[in-house]
Amino acid sequence: MKYTVGIDPGKCMGESICTAIVPDNFVISGSGKAVVNRRTITKEEYAPHAEAARLCPYHAITIEAQE
Ligand code: SF4
Repeated sequence: MKYTVGIDPGKCMGESICTAIVPDNFVISGSGKAVVNRRTITKEEYAPHAEAARLCPYHAITIEAQE
């Protein structure tokens, strides 16, 4: 199983919580918003990404299972 990760730039306020939890895949861009390095993640990577999504105060992170 693989998953697609996204960040809604309209919701992200650059709080850097996600970048602290998954620093290799969430980074703050020049605009001050978080972006995803790799949109497709494996099931082994799911747990920390889900934790970041859960803790994002603005619910900006989405994780969807791929077909
Ligand atoms: S935790 Fe949420 S608001 Fe903060 S940088 Fe990440 S996506 Fe943006």
